[in-house]
Order: sequence, then C-alpha cells, then structure tokens
Amino acid sequence: MNRSHELFVEAQNHLVGGVNSAVRAFRAVGGEPVFIHRGEGAWIEDVDGRRYVDYVLSYGPLAVGHAHPEVVAAVCDAVARGLSFGAPCELETHLAQRIKALFPSIDRLRMVSSGTEATMSALRLARGFTGRERIVKFQGCYHGHVDSLLVQAGSGVLTLGIPGSPGVPSAVAQQTITVPYNDLAATNGVFDQHGPEIAAVIVEPVAGNMNCVPPAEGFLSGLRRLCDQSGALLIFDEVMTGFRVSLGGAQAHYSVTPDLTCLGKVIGGGMPVGALGGRSEIMECLAPLGPVYQAGTLSGNPVAMAAGLATLDALTRAQAFDSAVAATRALVAGLHERARCAGVPFATSQVGTMFGLFFTEADAVTDFQRVSGCDVERFRRFFHSLLEQGVYLAPSAFEAGFLSTAHDEQTLEHTLAAAERAFASL
Ligand code: PMP
Repeated sequence: MNRSHELFVEAQNHLVGGVNSAVRAFRAVGGEPVFIHRGEGAWIEDVDGRRYVDYVLSYGPLAVGHAHPEVVAAVCDAVARGLSFGAPCELETHLAQRIKALFPSIDRLRMVSSGTEATMSALRLARGFTGRERIVKFQGCYHGHVDSLLVQAGSGVLTLGIPGSPGVPSAVAQQTITVPYNDLAATNGVFDQHGPEIAAVIVEPVAGNMNCVPPAEGFLSGLRRLCDQSGALLIFDEVMTGFRVSLGGAQAHYSVTPDLTCLGKVIGGGMPVGALGGRSEIMECLAPLGPVYQAGTLSGNPVAMAAGLATLDALTRAQAFDSAVAATRALVAGLHERARCAGVPFATSQVGTMFGLFFTEADAVTDFQRVSGCDVERFRRFFHSLLEQGVYLAPSAFEAGFLSTAHDEQTLEHTLAAAERAFASL
C-alpha cells in the first residue's frame, strides 16, 4: 500500500476516472498515476516522498521550473491584493507588452484562461473576419478540446485511441478538413478543392501532441503561401512552442509570420492563462471594438498575470533560455548514445526546450503515420523503468518532453544513468 494508491482509489469515487484531465490517468502506460505533493526547480516529489526529475513540467508551462522563488513572490504579492476583480488591472498591459516585444506579428492581444479558449476564440475570429466557415487542421495536432478541433487530434485523444469524439455534432466536424502533418501537396489539394471556403489553417508549428515532430523544410512557409493566395488566415497554435522553440516561438525560429497566434501555458507560468493575438485589423473585429463576441470573467486574472510576468522575466534573463536549450540538446544526445550502446532502435527530435523520443527503426519521424508505427510497448517499459528510478516522463508515447532553466548537470546525470539501465532492461 502506498499513499498515491490510496488517494487514487478515493479519487475514483468522486472524479471521473480519478482525474481532471484525461491524459493524467496512466491509461496508456498501465499502472496508476503518482500523486504529486510538491515541486522545486526540476524536481517533483510524490506523496510517498519519492523524488523525480520532471520532464512534463505541467505539460510545458513551467519554463523556469517548479516554485521559482521570483514567481512565487510575485504570485504572493498579487494574491495579497485580491484574487480577481472583473475589471482591468495594470499587469494585463505589462504582460501584453512583454509578449508583443517577443512576437512582432502581434499588434493586439486578448487574454483568456486556457489554450482551449485561445484556439476556440481564434477560430471564431478567423471565421468572423473572413466570412468563411471551413478550417484546415493536421492529423495528430491537438488544439484543446474545442468541438471543431477534436477531429483526428493528438494528445489524450491519440493516447486513448479516440478517432473523433462523440458529442461533437457532425455538422461541426464536417467544417474541419484534416490533412497529414508536413504534407504540403495534400494541403495544396485541399485548397484547390475548397480554397474560397477556408477561413483558416491552424497548425502546431512544431507538433507537440503526437510526441515531438518538427515541421519539414518549406512546410510552414508553404502554408503561408497557400493562405496568402486564398485569403485564409494562418493560425499558429504556439500554446506549446511559444517561449520554447525560441523566445519568439516557432514563428521567430522558422521566420514564418502567422496572421493569428495562440499562446497559453508559459505566459501564465503555471497559472491558468492563454492568449490570442495578431494584426490590429483582425484583432479589432473582437468585441468591444468589433462584432465577434469573446469575453471571460477570469481573463487577465491578476494572479495569473503576475505569475506570467515573473516567469518571462526569469526566462529572458541573460543566458537562461540558451542554457536550457543546450541542456535539452545534451539530454537528447545522451539518450541517443545510450540507446545505441544498448542496441535499442531509437530516434529523437529536439527543437529549443522541447524533445521527442521514439522507439522506432526509422531515422526520423515526420508525421502521424510514422508516430503511430512506433513501439508503444517498449515505451511503456522504458517509462516505468524511468519512473521507478526517479525520472518522470509524460505517461504516453505521444507527448513531447520539456526542460526548464532549472534542469542542470545533476538532473542530466541522474536521468542518463537511469536511462542507461532502462535501455539495458528492454
Ligand atoms: N494547443 C496546444 C498546442 C496544446 O498543446 C494544448 C494543451 N496541451 C492546447 C492547445 C490546449 O490548452 P489547454 O489544455 O490549456 O486548454
């Protein structure tokens, strides 16, 4: 008997599946979730006192690690002045200024409370702006649990093997056209057939919800060209890639400018935040300036804004981000080397502080089909071996991994020693 087990048994009497987000349930890897008691820097500790190097980081937002002292101080300061006002506060403008300085494609922003809200509102805005209804998305990309985007989606939908979701009206799903990721020719074909009906193309510019799959050369710029030719908007869902692929997101890294950007996670530093932003002429179609309705009681919440600002302050200081990227590169190279020595077929991907691990004979994994062909059983054994040795990966072969500025030499050594034993046991 351990405390995590007891808590999970009790949780299942009250919460659906014992969890509040489907991806947490360990369904794909077997066993039971560990319940986390606290986090500090790169480490988390469960309720039984076991410590793990954390490569999940709350699925990305903790870019400067757990309970960063400056983030905690900023949050405490904001909390002491009140939790929510439903009225403007100064911190909202400060965070918007910080984001705009890093994302030149954004003239105006709207803060929301989650990534799902950001993509949902971006689609409504794109439809309102263009007067068109169809959306193009890519197989294995996940953009939150928005009805029209739960079509051949990644993340938990992929992990749990759900092709679409009951409850999404077919009339809504039909407005979404799905294309293989990195397949510009297929996207071209869709535009040939439906160009004038397409309001927007939404893409994870580095796919992080079917493991981690970078864009092929010319894919993002090709999408830009197709959108320009047809009058559709290009939406980059940078909920995961923002402040991770580079400080200016994937758009800075690949030099492709979207019309709209969705952000989340990192800009709240672990508090519930999202945002959408873009050119003024598009953004000003939103209420109160324009007719496209969008609102939120907790949007721009002062505590969340304070956490986001402190996180961006720490992340953009001196060499902080560059060191985290270097640590990510070193981790991936070290894992590769240990897999090779153990004779385990293995491929990796890495962009900025995001990485992917694939149990496959292929050299590189470029799309959903290849991701689906990876050896999930091997991942399961690798995952559990690492967990037992104090390394916490996402409990699915289809999620990206993340590093923070708190991942250092010691965490790297701990991880690689554990991985060496895990590979040997496969
Ligand atoms: N877009 C992307 C790219 C995501 O990775 C996620 C969540 N993992 C979302 C949107 C949805 O964000 P949230 O879970 O905060 O609603």
